[in-house]
Amino acid sequence: MEKELFIETFAQKGCPICNLIDKRFEEFLFWFEREGFRNFSSIKTLQENINICQRHRPILINLQNRLFNTLEPIIESDLKLFNKLLDRQKMPKKLLKGEISKECRFCIEEKRIEELLVDFFIQNISAESFLSIYLSSDALICRKHLFAILNKAPYQKAKPLIKKTINYLKQAENQTKIYFKKLDYLCAEKPHAEAYKKILPFYLK
Ligand SMILES: [Zn+2]
Ligand SMILES: [Zn+2]
Repeated sequence: MEKELFIETFAQKGCPICNLIDKRFEEFLFWFEREGFRNFSSIKTLQENINICQRHRPILINLQNRLFNTLEPIIESDLKLFNKLLDRQKMPKKLLKGEISKECRFCIEEKRIEELLVDFFIQNISAESFLSIYLSSDALICRKHLFAILNKAPYQKAKPLIKKTINYLKQAENQTKIYFKKLDYLCAEKPHAEAYKKILPFYLK
């Protein structure tokens, strides 16, 4: 199932892993906004990772009144925590550190999805058909995910991925050169500023 999805994604430009992370995360949000926000174990996970980042804040804000169910146990346990802090003789540094290092529940979900997809891609590059479809496609694994794959995949299997990236970067280098050449006032042809659109996806998530 996942394999077919990956192969479908190869038909799109950009990084297949980034594209699938977005898709999977949307599915997670669909569940979270209907069930997850009031599900007991999900509230517990939220509480353990309650430092919600700026990017993911709208997810909670959009839930509005429905969020009271979710917040009730979190407020209760925070009241206990702050009362405990007042009772101490001095600040319990370890406890504070633990609270500061809590992450964003939604970033953690994204990371979990990301790791699964990177692992899945690595498992499948051994299959010649999977690899050759990727290599001949317009898709290009972004810089971040290429390194995540190189870090875990067998070296020989990963080599064709590096070659594809080199080809892409060479084309990008050429386009950059052409752009600067055309910027020259002696050149009659106007530069094509659109070229950066082809280069950027490799560096952006
Ligand atoms: Zn990517
Ligand atoms: Zn986040």
